[in-house]
Amino acid sequence: DIPSLDLLYNRKTLDVSRLGPVDGASSIHNDRVGLFRGDITSLSVDAIVNAANTSLLGGGGVDGAIHRRAGPQLLAECRTLGGCETGSSKITNAYNLPCKKVIHAVGPIYSELRPDRSEVSLRGCYQSSLRLAIEHDLKTIAFSGISTGIYGYPSIDAALVACSTVKEFLDSKDGQRLDKVIFVTFEEKDVRAYNHVLPRFFPPA
Ligand code: ADP
Repeated sequence: DIPSLDLLYNRKTLDVSRLGPVDGASSIHNDRVGLFRGDITSLSVDAIVNAANTSLLGGGGVDGAIHRRAGPQLLAECRTLGGCETGSSKITNAYNLPCKKVIHAVGPIYSELRPDRSEVSLRGCYQSSLRLAIEHDLKTIAFSGISTGIYGYPSIDAALVACSTVKEFLDSKDGQRLDKVIFVTFEEKDVRAYNHVLPRFFPPA
């Protein structure tokens, strides 16, 4: 008995370990998704996705790590961008980072009162980042766990949004232009969440 995606999203606390594959799950994209645990600033992919804030002027967490390794030129470029709305993304050069570009996505501060609104914004982060990647002809993209740190988005719920949005994109015509999407985890709770959720969207062949 496989629950539909809508059902998954509407449930507040999920035990995905008991669930089978979600509707529409397939292994056809398995070679195009990856899971990595570690420092996103070490990845020499085409684009890394930062979990930024609306000012785009730097913060703690992954944002701080990215700015430290990229060098002060990144902040200088970010200053020219005029900030970014929640649920949206902007792209910059990567300077001293080993990747080619940095996509700055602004995730929602998780709201327990309005989880639906948080979800729309988080989905927007993934969609806008994927769109920016193909617009700039970038083939490999690595996502940080947007909003799952200081912004408090529950890890399982965030992984569900990430995996379903990426799967939908890879299934679409534009998605054919991407070679690889890597989900980057850092803390144990997110490693566990992705280990549960990822195989439900991209089941082993
Ligand atoms: P947010 O404010 O959007 O929650 P955070 O930077 O606090 O942003 O956290 C986003 C995610 O990035 C969290 O899952 C956190 O564990 C992770 N993270 C923190 N530092 C790094 C890093 N150097 N590389 C990859 N992920 C990181």
